[in-house]
Amino acid sequence: MLKNMAFGVALMAASAQAAEPPKNVIFFIGDGMGPAYTTAYRYYQADSKVSLVSETVFDRLLTGSASTFPHDDTVVTDSAAGATALATGTKSYNGAVGVDAHKQPLDSMLVQAKARGWNTGVIATTHVNHATPASFVAHSDSRRNYQEIADQFYSRRLRENQPLVDLILGGGQRYFPMEPDQLGDRMVNWGYQYTDKLSQLDSLTRLPALGLFAPKQLPYAVDSDQPKRLGAMVAAGLRLLGQSDTSFFLMVEGSLIDWCGHDNDIACAMKEMDDFAGAIEVAEAFAKERGDTLVVFTADHSTGGLTLGAGGEYRWESAQVKQIKASLRTITEALLNQAPEQFAQILASYVGFELTQEELTELASVSKEEEALRWKLADILSAHSFTGWTTSGHTAVDVPLGAMGPGAEQFMGHLDNTDIAKALKQMIR
Ligand SMILES: [Zn+2]
Repeated sequence: MLKNMAFGVALMAASAQAAEPPKNVIFFIGDGMGPAYTTAYRYYQADSKVSLVSETVFDRLLTGSASTFPHDDTVVTDSAAGATALATGTKSYNGAVGVDAHKQPLDSMLVQAKARGWNTGVIATTHVNHATPASFVAHSDSRRNYQEIADQFYSRRLRENQPLVDLILGGGQRYFPMEPDQLGDRMVNWGYQYTDKLSQLDSLTRLPALGLFAPKQLPYAVDSDQPKRLGAMVAAGLRLLGQSDTSFFLMVEGSLIDWCGHDNDIACAMKEMDDFAGAIEVAEAFAKERGDTLVVFTADHSTGGLTLGAGGEYRWESAQVKQIKASLRTITEALLNQAPEQFAQILASYVGFELTQEELTELASVSKEEEALRWKLADILSAHSFTGWTTSGHTAVDVPLGAMGPGAEQFMGHLDNTDIAKALKQMIR
């Protein structure tokens, strides 16, 4: 009896806590980040065998898992349907951006936040009008309508004198041209502060702010001299959004985890995970200091069927992954059409371990065919770390879910992706 009373009091305390909504919401989406990615990252970032189980931010914030299936009976979602579910709470068909299965527009939590008078932001490592950020901002019956979607970032407003999105950081210069009277130029004239250089994020001092750092997606972290670019964008974003008393909603996408997964490129994926983890840590520190901010992370789906352990061996070698210093696309470009006897020497500047003569011969057999060469390289380099892949597409496995801050208890256990959105929409008021 006493025990039950104590339990009842604890429940009441929990529901009283739940009644206090967060002032700010930061929603991280790792595109393609299935559970094998967060697991691999734990072993990848550990310094030695001694600290193999050292905790990552994903472990620290983990509260549950989420199912990702789309509206149809395929079970496997794409990023547009996945993001539409996460942004609106309604499942749709693959390719849908902010519209339901009947192509009717849906309101996202970002639009709801703006309607309540909150400031809003989107940050991504791909172009900002790509499927995931697009589903929070725009409506389109196809994710491929990139220009139409970009236009809505500016033209879609709830009030004439207020932008729908106060903070936009990522790639996509080609969709927001700065020539007179073009979209980017119109936004700047309307009042957006603008920069096109990551090194000048500090030059953004107020909202609304627009930072576009590549024509389309940003370079892969593994190929970049600024591998922590998402962390830098999130730090700048929180500086801008956090300087006002107004509540804010911020969506952050680790976009390129998925792209590396499509290429079955483990070194590329781990460097993207490293930047994504660092970006969540920036938000975690912000939320810890303020106590009024909810941070949630999840993924839209998994990509590539990544697994740790392959070829019948009971091992996964993160040390081999760390010795790969460029993306498969970059290494393939360096090898393409080169004389096979040069391959070992060229590879030595990108890969810290030696390939066997047999592997070099296999690569040489496709030295003039870009796609075949890249996939052969993927097979060989994956085999060295015992990394397994099942597909060049997406898979339907459940994805990790984590949360901290006021309202975090809403994300415990197994949720559907639409339940995550519904819980967040409940709290944005
Ligand atoms: Zn994908």
